[in-house]
Amino acid sequence: MNLLVTGGAGFIGSNFIRYILNRHSDWNIVCLDLLTYAGSIENLDCVVDDFRFTFIKGDITDYDQVSDILENYKIDIVVNFAAQSHVDRSIDNPGIFVQTNVLGTQVLLDLCIKHKIKRFHQVSTDEVYGDLPIDRPDLLFDENSPLAPSSPYSSSKAAADLIVLSYHRTYGLDVTVSRCSNNYGICQHKEKLIPCVISNALSDNPVPVFGSGLNVRDWIYVMDHCSGIETVIESGKAGEVYNIGSNNEVSNITLIKYILNRLNKPYSLIKYVEDRKGHDRRYGLDCSKIKRELGWLPKADFYKTVDETIDWYAKNKYLSDM
Ligand code: NAD
Repeated sequence: MNLLVTGGAGFIGSNFIRYILNRHSDWNIVCLDLLTYAGSIENLDCVVDDFRFTFIKGDITDYDQVSDILENYKIDIVVNFAAQSHVDRSIDNPGIFVQTNVLGTQVLLDLCIKHKIKRFHQVSTDEVYGDLPIDRPDLLFDENSPLAPSSPYSSSKAAADLIVLSYHRTYGLDVTVSRCSNNYGICQHKEKLIPCVISNALSDNPVPVFGSGLNVRDWIYVMDHCSGIETVIESGKAGEVYNIGSNNEVSNITLIKYILNRLNKPYSLIKYVEDRKGHDRRYGLDCSKIKRELGWLPKADFYKTVDETIDWYAKNKYLSDM
């Protein structure tokens, strides 16, 4: 099996490449990544010498380059992680989000048709559903919930999801979409919540908290996300969407205090800042479809893997190098 993994030098993509090469001795991976500020070839250090792995620097919006890759490497499956992924940046500069997340996805889809790719998998987010009230923990989003994204980031992901699904309906392309909750794990850029808190706390700098800090995120260990994507590309049904999550809902302030405790740092580092524009209140996912239809279950112990993640950043030079 030959996979093209786009955006594989970023946080989740690099974890996915390591995960797949460990588990499938007969799979080859080509990683196409533009190496924006968010991607780093060092995230792929442990696979660069693997003969089954090839790295190519390039842009998913570059039709000719992607076409050559699909042809030359006889790609069977495309897994699209490549994206602009930071909500705050999308509020400041939405254009690049539409360019990469929407138009880039459409270029990949056109080429999947041209090269008769067996499956195109779109890595999407629960943020396409918008948010839920904090005081209604009984409410969850399932795959039939309406798309109601709040930010230019989540809107660009929702647009891409719809285009992906339309290529199945209109052209018969074999596509799947997974929508996952917030990931934690190693190799995440320090602009994101967990590495940001660790980085600031380790340098005794203020730890910024948006608004009241009571906004709730639903956390999943990145390796569970990777196994969910593997399950969908192997056994998911064409044209279907699958939610992936592990029901670990925690408020931002609770998580921040947990990290400070683990690092033996005082709560006085916490600095409440003006709330993000349009800030989503709570995410919550119903993942019964992937469990019921594909038999997938998350495996990670939440606090054990959060502790391992905090310890990895604290011991690693990763944050200081970024
Ligand atoms: P990331 O920002 O860490 O990585 C994105 C990667 O895409 C980077 O390596 C970047 O260089 C690359 N890239 C950007 N533009 C490109 C282009 N035009 N051509 C080729 N490569 C390009 O993001 P992430 O957190 O690893 O997220 C990966 C995917 O998963 C995204 O599609 C995101 O929407 C989705 N997702 C993320 C989360 C999360 O919690 N991080 C949750 C659900 C879904």
